[in-house]
Amino acid sequence: MNKHQETTSVHAGHEIDPATGALSAPIHLSTTFERHPTGDYPLGFQYSRLENPNRAALEDKMAALEFGTQAAAFASGSAAAMTVFQALRPGDHLLLPNDMYFGIRKLIREVFIPWGLEAAFVDMTDLDGIQNRVQTNTTLILVETPSNPLLKVTDIHAVVEIARQVGAWVLCDNTVATPVLQHPLPLGADLSLHATTKYLGGHSDVLGGVLVARQESELWERIRFLQQNGGAVPSPFECWLTVRGIHTLPYRVRTQANNALRVARFLKDHPQVERVYYPGLEDHPGHQVAAGQMTGFGGLLSFQVKGGQSRAMHAAAELRLITQATSFGGTNSLIEHRASIEEPGTTTPENLLRLSIGLEHPNDLIDDLNQALNGS
Ligand SMILES: *Cc1c(COP(=O)(O)O)cnc(C)c1O
Repeated sequence: MNKHQETTSVHAGHEIDPATGALSAPIHLSTTFERHPTGDYPLGFQYSRLENPNRAALEDKMAALEFGTQAAAFASGSAAAMTVFQALRPGDHLLLPNDMYFGIRKLIREVFIPWGLEAAFVDMTDLDGIQNRVQTNTTLILVETPSNPLLKVTDIHAVVEIARQVGAWVLCDNTVATPVLQHPLPLGADLSLHATTKYLGGHSDVLGGVLVARQESELWERIRFLQQNGGAVPSPFECWLTVRGIHTLPYRVRTQANNALRVARFLKDHPQVERVYYPGLEDHPGHQVAAGQMTGFGGLLSFQVKGGQSRAMHAAAELRLITQATSFGGTNSLIEHRASIEEPGTTTPENLLRLSIGLEHPNDLIDDLNQALNGS
């Protein structure tokens, strides 16, 4: 229908309220909806755990933005990921990235492996390695690209081809890239996952998660069943806030990506910086793959500070404009010492800081980083 992401972001799933003419969608708090004398629900809504008008608007918008056929919204990105694993069967084998969002890795290790899933953590940038690790009972390969926090880049289409040999599904965590910069489903992935808490909500004020399906499948039916019957769904107001955030998504993300490249180039030349991880830099090992499957390199980057963990933490503490806080994707730039919040034994380097570029002017961010690094 609409060709351009900016237009889809505003218009998909949106209609003028037929009852009042309101441009901004009403928030439907009602948990229950009237049944027709014939016994039907002609307007499509019955009970809010099953479906709600605000949730339907969010799901329709996400399906359109990701070129999927259906979407399912959840109360958090983690709840969305949990639902995929719950939809699998004990004895199923999973391949997961060795650099990935640590909360999901924790759920796999502490809940789903004891529950009967088999899981192997592999380097998703090494296609031969993936090929060697798939088994006949591999049912799902999860890719996260760019990954959090090391910004590793995985070739989505190449992983899809390996997965198809054994009939495995591919789930792509597209949170860092957003639908503005990367479309996993046209590349062949079966599902894309978003923590809408990050760029889609975009203002650090609403948690949420969404799964989008390329097409209907047995797996999708189980996911929808778990969403509607398990009930880890977002409230109408949370859906409304996320939809409101998506209206400006393409403009925010492109600005954040442009500014992240400027900050990454500045950090790369700074004498106190050991290494910068940003796929937009030409010497990033995943730069070519990223350039081939993304239309920009995103607003998230990481860097290692010379002198170890204490120098890195000190530099973060010296920042005035950039806030030390977890999460990313909002209007305010955030920095985080990642190893100290991840679980013990994490592979994240101890002197690594992850930086989420907000919507401030990039020169002000560069000045702030410069004073903090020089003073540390
Ligand atoms: C934050 C995040 C999640 C989890 O989302 P929550 O809404 O915090 O539960 C999943 N994947 C990635 C890549 C994330 O950054």
